[in-house]
Amino acid sequence: MLEVKDINEAGLSNDLVFGNKSFAGHEEVVFCYDKKTGLKAIIAIHDTTLGPALGGTRMWMYKSEAEALNDVLRLSRGMTFKAAITGLELGGGKAVIIGDARKDKTPDLFRKYGEFIDSLKGRYITAEDVGTSTSDMVYVHERTKFVTGLPESMGGSGDPSPVTAYGVYMGMKASAMERWGDDSLRGKKIAVQGVGHVGENLVKYVTEEGAKVYISDINKEQLEAVSKKYGAEIVSPDAVYDLDIDIYAPCALGATLNTEHIGRLKCAIVAGAANNQLADENIHGKMVTDKGILYAPDFLINAGGLINVYSEIKGYNREASLEQAKNIYTTTLEIFKKAKLENLTTAAAARMLAEERLLAARKA
Ligand code: NAD
Repeated sequence: MLEVKDINEAGLSNDLVFGNKSFAGHEEVVFCYDKKTGLKAIIAIHDTTLGPALGGTRMWMYKSEAEALNDVLRLSRGMTFKAAITGLELGGGKAVIIGDARKDKTPDLFRKYGEFIDSLKGRYITAEDVGTSTSDMVYVHERTKFVTGLPESMGGSGDPSPVTAYGVYMGMKASAMERWGDDSLRGKKIAVQGVGHVGENLVKYVTEEGAKVYISDINKEQLEAVSKKYGAEIVSPDAVYDLDIDIYAPCALGATLNTEHIGRLKCAIVAGAANNQLADENIHGKMVTDKGILYAPDFLINAGGLINVYSEIKGYNREASLEQAKNIYTTTLEIFKKAKLENLTTAAAARMLAEERLLAARKA
């Protein structure tokens, strides 16, 4: 048994990779290595019941291969539930490339990676994620057709982040409705952690609605640019957990909802874009609930990006994608209702609905 004890800088996870639930259920996990280009990637196909496994490729400087494996197993599993709860004909998969996105990217690395994807014959379809972009996907596309998130100039759907942010915004408004009986965010104090592709767009939406916005990021340049553009107040990365706010929106990396942070949080709602926000779905899902915080399940409200790339497969239409992302509002309210009726955490209620859909599809 291999144990990943440590949490990476972003606090990804301290799960046991083998022997726990995150491994169980994966259909296929492929390790890709190429000496010439330095490519080290892992592709995880979690479940293809509903369709091909679609999920982005994350490029990150993992401290170890075990940590990368742990991350890809958790992320791919989340994609299965995300596709199922959103009602898309897609399975769950994800990939990680081990490397520094600022220094290690080359066209050949992505071409080689494209060859590995192609060898899976469509069981896995990729897209961009943290550390990769539409321009990287162009090189992947030179070697495989199983790639989405291509630039609009190539008939692709371009950057999915604006649609993701819109879906998160819808999930946040639904949470406000549930908590305060009014979905207006005017005057609400909102902290957005991570103002990258999704975070910045979310800041735009909530600022336009009149919220008081706090932002944090480890990238100072980006932080200052977003602050200047939207008048958001900068807070240090760690201080974000101690703010007296209404809504905490994690839009950086996962597992920020861990025992320490939940203990410190002073907010009524958590609604953000980051994948796998709960360090442990059961333990921290309950801890958040017990603290009286309403948690909008991440894989439910951040599905806008998946909706967007799914639309690319069918023939891209941004308006239709935004319209579909709007439905996240209704689904979020349904999940809150289910959680109340069945005495579940909101995370468990969302998981259950996704699993019910998977089960029905398997039976059919
Ligand atoms: P991004 O890389 O553009 O932005 C992430 C930002 O978080 C960066 O600016 C980074 O500097 C910052 N960051 C990293 N660690 C931090 C920390 N400890 N404190 C504060 N800031 C920190 O990524 P993105 O595309 O905006 O995605 C953000 C999150 O949303 C990720 O978890 C991603 O998996 C998830 N997500 C993104 C999409 C999408 O469409 N892009 C879709 C679904 C989910």
